[in-house]
Amino acid sequence: MNIGVPLETYLGETRVAVTPETAKKLKAQGHTVKVQSGAGVAASAPDEAYAAVGAEITDRAGALAAELVLKVRSPDADELALMKPGAVLVGMLNPFDKPGLQALASAGLTAFALEAAPRTTRAQSMDVLSSQANIGGYKAVMMAADRYQRLFPMLMTAAGTIKAARVVILGVGVAGLQAIATAKRLGAVIEASDVRPSVKEQVESLGAKFIEVPYETPEEKEAAEGVGGYARPMPPSWLERQKVEVAKRVAQADIVISTALIPGRAAPVLITEEMVKSMKPGSVIVDMAAGRGPDGVGGNCPLTETGQTVKKHGVTIIGETNLPALVAADSSSLYARNVLDFLKLVVTKEGAFAIPADDDIVAACLMAQGGELKKN
Ligand code: NAD
Repeated sequence: MNIGVPLETYLGETRVAVTPETAKKLKAQGHTVKVQSGAGVAASAPDEAYAAVGAEITDRAGALAAELVLKVRSPDADELALMKPGAVLVGMLNPFDKPGLQALASAGLTAFALEAAPRTTRAQSMDVLSSQANIGGYKAVMMAADRYQRLFPMLMTAAGTIKAARVVILGVGVAGLQAIATAKRLGAVIEASDVRPSVKEQVESLGAKFIEVPYETPEEKEAAEGVGGYARPMPPSWLERQKVEVAKRVAQADIVISTALIPGRAAPVLITEEMVKSMKPGSVIVDMAAGRGPDGVGGNCPLTETGQTVKKHGVTIIGETNLPALVAADSSSLYARNVLDFLKLVVTKEGAFAIPADDDIVAACLMAQGGELKKN
């Protein structure tokens, strides 16, 4: 099969869907791999590294005209115009972007959005949300440490003692857990909040403290269980009590890293302006939900500015929207392996494309086929 790997055109996107490592494996499986010149450069994979494993270096049209196109982001209109009807597209295509998916369907593509894979054991090796959120959680802590004008670890020196930084993590999914682990390695004292009670044990196992907010009504308990491992919106009564507990911790915090998301909905507001005002000068917030707040404004903090780092009420607020792209080599490496694993489900040993009749992962990821949207 002809496999195309275009250079990503989305602003700030540095990742690439196929690395020299996975290009080599695709070649070994008998495929022709056509990589657009420069596609891997921002991820530390120059053309020569692809050529060395037998990939062909081509231009944009050459990569996009392939039977199977592997991408990070959904193609824009110009890219779509270069793709062939009937081609297969695999990428992070945003399963909630109906107009975007409709454009893929109208272009006659068979499109798979990897973010839609179920969070099951079998799907773990192709779980792009996890592989990328993991890196995002790490980078969030690195960015906070860089902006923070004090140290993370406690330091006892001849000139006196420096206190350890207090870090609050809001939302403890994959990114939040990695943020805890990373901040812990740097010596911080960490507290974390999540709506899902199952997270408590994971937080404690990493040496952090879980912010307890009891569930008082059957409605609260039911909502807290979530669905498919994901959070559901919590009743206002619980959110009010959470706010009180979080506000106390935020006022004492040096660093807040917020990652709270509910799939397909606006990110919950967890850090109000009042809370920001209560923080010490020089504190840092990294809002990983930037750009996903109500009406696309803000994130978990309404003061967050999408894609910007701003200072408000003496607090630095980082609203970077694509943290994995700032660690392009490793995030590409994990993403490319996720893609390779997914392909095992839809490409036969003989190298032909085939959609298995009863595969839950493939069915969940399939967004468009035969000119039609596969999801409502
Ligand atoms: P996510 O990015 O959707 O959300 C981040 C976190 O925000 C979640 O932990 C969520 O509970 C939390 N959150 C939502 N509203 C909140 C609020 N008001 N206050 C505090 N926290 C709030 O999450 P994710 O990283 O994609 O992980 C989702 C789930 O999938 C987790 O349960 C994770 O353990 C699970 N998971 C399972 C597998 C697997 O079994 N293969 C792999 C990866 C993740």
